[in-house]
Amino acid sequence: MTDERTLPPGLHRDTLALRTGLAPSQHGEHSEALFLTSGFVQPDAETSARRFAGTEQGFTYSRTSNPTVASFEQRLAALEGTEAAIGASTGMGAILMMCMGLLKAGDHVICSRSVFGSTLNLFGKEFAKFGVETTFVSQTDVAEWRAAMKPNTKLLFAETPTNPLTEVCDIQALADLAHGGGALLAVDNCFCTPALQRPVELGADLIIHSGTKYLDGQGRVMAGAICGPSKLIVDVFGPVVRTAGMALSPFNAWVVLKGMETLGIRMKAQCANALAVAQWLEQQPGIARVYYPGLVSHGQHELAMRQQSGQGGAVVSFDVVGDTPEAARANAFHVINSTRVVSIATNLGDTKTIITHPGTTSHGRLTEVQRQAAGISQGLIRLAVGLEYIDDITADLSRGLGTLNT
Ligand SMILES: *Cc1c(COP(=O)(O)O)cnc(C)c1O
Repeated sequence: MTDERTLPPGLHRDTLALRTGLAPSQHGEHSEALFLTSGFVQPDAETSARRFAGTEQGFTYSRTSNPTVASFEQRLAALEGTEAAIGASTGMGAILMMCMGLLKAGDHVICSRSVFGSTLNLFGKEFAKFGVETTFVSQTDVAEWRAAMKPNTKLLFAETPTNPLTEVCDIQALADLAHGGGALLAVDNCFCTPALQRPVELGADLIIHSGTKYLDGQGRVMAGAICGPSKLIVDVFGPVVRTAGMALSPFNAWVVLKGMETLGIRMKAQCANALAVAQWLEQQPGIARVYYPGLVSHGQHELAMRQQSGQGGAVVSFDVVGDTPEAARANAFHVINSTRVVSIATNLGDTKTIITHPGTTSHGRLTEVQRQAAGISQGLIRLAVGLEYIDDITADLSRGLGTLNT
């Protein structure tokens, strides 16, 4: 009783999120099956040989491919609008896979200075050891990217909006720049997800995901993926996963596959909550600045609205006042410690709202000078806004903001 019908063309992304993936098994299960198996029995030695040689499709071993992982890959590719996708154990595993597949000693990479901290380290420290040079440039100034281009530049890597200051880069401009110099543009689309932003439509070649964040959306498992053209996914990244082993576990793939079914509706609701919180914060005493792409006061508001389906995303950051870094930190800690509903943690992309002090967590190991260069003040608080009732979130922030020592 497998469903052999093919989907009609032109379906909306919200429909694709529910309807793409491998066909059901012979049992006709309605909820996607979880294939928790490391290996697959072959009908005969000849078929086995052809599958290992890659001349015939078929599952052999789950480090290479697995039906549940394949369903996850097909669904994510459909949402991003790419030919294919390949799963990885984590978001960082996906970036590692990309680097191993594309780069060799003597190559050059250009990367925004404001990307995820582990990504900075992967390019700046780990890959520097293997002779890959990375130039770090401004998130928002395309001229800096252009000036950094070299004949051996193979990859431009961007992430937009950034964490925690929500700075937006112009994907189309960076894609044009990359292609003009014979390089590829990869975009980490973790913050927006394909529900808001589809970098491939703006010219990006590869899309990176941490499935750990909004794709799962409920903070349950680690997962990652690269989306892109089949020739890179199948011929370049497939062999990397097969030999280096950063494969996605079928269980985690299944959790994220089911999480993606509600991606559109979650993002819409979380963006609405985030906009409401951001607008409310702008009116509160004790706040020096609010960072949110959905606010007219945001430096790249128009670009963000154009690039992100008119949505600001679900991460809002704000600076609380303080005459000195110590005073600002004390005020930020007071606001964080006064909450009784939101979670004090460093994750994001969860249905539960999370409050974070970047200056002593994600950016805690930087020197004060490096932190200030990155715009991370001691008064900065990041909120990854979830699905709680909006008035309960603002009331929770009021507890501390209303009693600040200013
Ligand atoms: C969390 C995150 C990653 C890394 O993902 P993991 O699944 O934790 O490895 C990469 N990029 C961005 C923007 C992230 O927020």
